[in-house]
Amino acid sequence: MAQLGDCITLAQSPTPPGRGKVGTGPNRRPAGARGALVSSPPGRRARLATPGTGTSIVETREAMRRRLQDLIENNRVMIFSKSYCPHSTRVKELFSSLGVEYNALELDKIDNGSSVQEVLLEITNQKTVPNVFVNKVHMGGCDQTLQAHQSGLLKKVLQEDSRGSGTYDYDLIVIGGGSGGLACAKEAAVLGKKVMVLDFVVPSPHGTTWGLGGTCVNVGCIPKKLMHQAALLGQALHDSRKYGWEYNQQVKHNWETMIEAIQNYIGSLNWGYKLSLREKAVTYINSYGTFVDHHKIKATNRKEQETSYTAAKFVIATGERPRYLGIQGDKEYCITSDDLFSLPYCPGKTLVVGASYVALECAGFLAGIGLDVTVMVRSILLRGFDQEMAEKVGSYMEQHGVKFLRKFIPVTIQQLEKGTPGKLRVVAKSIEGPETIEDVYNTVLLAIGRDSCTRKIGLEKIGVKINEKTGKIPVNDVEQTNVPYVYAIGDILEGKPELTPVAIQAGKLLARRLFGGSLEKCDYINVPTTVFTPLEYGCCGLSEEKAIEVYTKDNLEVYHTLFWPLEWTIADRDNNTCYAKIICNKRDNDRVIGFHVFGPNAGEITQGFAVAMKCGLTKQLLNDTIGIHPTCGEVFTTLEITKSSGLAITQKGC
Ligand code: FAD
Ligand code: NAP
Repeated sequence: MAQLGDCITLAQSPTPPGRGKVGTGPNRRPAGARGALVSSPPGRRARLATPGTGTSIVETREAMRRRLQDLIENNRVMIFSKSYCPHSTRVKELFSSLGVEYNALELDKIDNGSSVQEVLLEITNQKTVPNVFVNKVHMGGCDQTLQAHQSGLLKKVLQEDSRGSGTYDYDLIVIGGGSGGLACAKEAAVLGKKVMVLDFVVPSPHGTTWGLGGTCVNVGCIPKKLMHQAALLGQALHDSRKYGWEYNQQVKHNWETMIEAIQNYIGSLNWGYKLSLREKAVTYINSYGTFVDHHKIKATNRKEQETSYTAAKFVIATGERPRYLGIQGDKEYCITSDDLFSLPYCPGKTLVVGASYVALECAGFLAGIGLDVTVMVRSILLRGFDQEMAEKVGSYMEQHGVKFLRKFIPVTIQQLEKGTPGKLRVVAKSIEGPETIEDVYNTVLLAIGRDSCTRKIGLEKIGVKINEKTGKIPVNDVEQTNVPYVYAIGDILEGKPELTPVAIQAGKLLARRLFGGSLEKCDYINVPTTVFTPLEYGCCGLSEEKAIEVYTKDNLEVYHTLFWPLEWTIADRDNNTCYAKIICNKRDNDRVIGFHVFGPNAGEITQGFAVAMKCGLTKQLLNDTIGIHPTCGEVFTTLEITKSSGLAITQKGC
């Protein structure tokens, strides 16, 4: 058996008549000239670590990775292959038929072929052979390479050799300047790459538009949390009398003042983003990007002027926009979260359609600032969340003035009166029978989900696949699409949480992998989240339903309790509302696989416990932790009652 060093015995394509020998072209050193993958004296079996040097396996693995990357970078076509594999043979025949020289490392002919495969798995997310690279671009296996040949992509990537990647305008172009796109662009620039970001906001049907930073900053997390705070302050005012505050003035909320303050703050964030792009030498253009050809986009600005740019790599981070119902009057008369946060007038009596994050959060803060709010629910609250917790969110909102119309959907929206706000008649029908209802509202807010911005960006021109039904982009676990030089991050990804910190983490790590030699992948498991309804609901890990589905009920222990925040006591607020629950896997040392809290500042509480879950939190570790008194979070260190015991968890008061 050959030694590891024998990766120099690279297979060669039959040299076509009149062509040079493998590995002798310009910019190329013979791969073997750079030595063995792991130093191993001739005639001996290759080892992972060099004896006596104290080199750890991890370090040697790192050396092997560098060596493989050397091979990839210094060979126009590099094929990791097995001599007996028919798929590898097909790929080699393809390059031979094209008259293209390749280098092939036959993994069955070297001692540590399986370790090479492990490292290739880390680098490319592909373990199987053939594993094909052309001009440093990972093409994939046999099928992908043949497909790339058919689509013309292979030819283009092969041509890059003669033009050299330096002839692209940019190393990286990011389409979409939101949470994910900006994080990725800035990190790539810090790593010394030439980067461009395109960001363009297509106005909502109501004409609302905004600045740089994407959904979170302009029409998502930031204004939402600030309006949530406005509502919490209203509740605090209410409680304050019990704490001795005396005031005679009638307290009322002024919508315009709140909007102005929030929009001023957002304006400062937009400015800050522009500044930080400039500081990092990222080129920002306020234009809409569409792919027109491989490695080439067209950027169209507000004045419809078009410019083309090329790049070696692309990241798509175009996010999502609110969906409409597709019924009479929806686009003309309804607003969405895209319009709400800058609405220049108070929305008045509001119907919120939808029952997930956006709907319940918006309904919560609108009611919290004193408006008459109704939520129209098609099926259940907070689909995908623990349903016991979702119902607690709903019943708290109901007790605090939000009306719920369950199992209804709107069928027509008709304008009765223009105005700011005007008057709208809404007719809705039951999803369970022929019943219809109608009512008049000042504002109808649609919060029925969001569509990915992937259908009008020319993906078909370069063959990037999307899920035709959802518009989402499937990627492998290094966020690579089916077109090797195109990556995607954030809300447009299939099957990933749609949250700002997820998009940021994925963007940053992607840039480090692409340009900084890192191997770290984004971990999408146990991502914590919080629904910022008037009483917050935070969670991490599995819902009780999902845990039962995955582990079965017998293998789980659920610990839970109601709790009464100290701040609520003298304010006379209900002592049986706030709730804490953990779901433990009995078969795995009572590991906490689901964490749920419904109470004040649930977001702050959940963040810390999410770290503990990353560290493998168990029930015993919670028992061993001394709480901070008096806090709400301490309740998790004293959970004793299991759901299966059926014991009462109600709080008796003081
Ligand atoms: P986005 O931030 O949406 O950015 C995409 C950008 O690309 C946009 O600026 C868009 O205009 C632009 N764009 C699109 N197409 C093109 C094109 N062809 N050319 C150029 N530019 C283009 N997440 C949380 O973690 N916490 C929260 O509390 C929270 N609250 C939310 C509240 C609301 C009301 C909403 C709607 C969302 C909320 N989210 C929250 C989700 C969060 O906002 C998203 O997960 C996050 O913004 C996704 O980032 P992204 O980079 O994928 O896309
Ligand atoms: P969503 O989670 O997709 O929920 C859509 C809601 O609208 C569901 O309740 C759905 O009901 C309902 N709906 C869909 N079509 C409808 C129709 N035709 N008629 C009536 N109701 C309809 O969407 P979202 O609330 O817009 O949230 C989008 C994403 O943004 C979330 O996944 C989340 O990650 C992110 N976000 C996060 C936060 C946060 O972190 N706090 C806040 C807001 C948003 P069914 O259940 O019957 O389908």
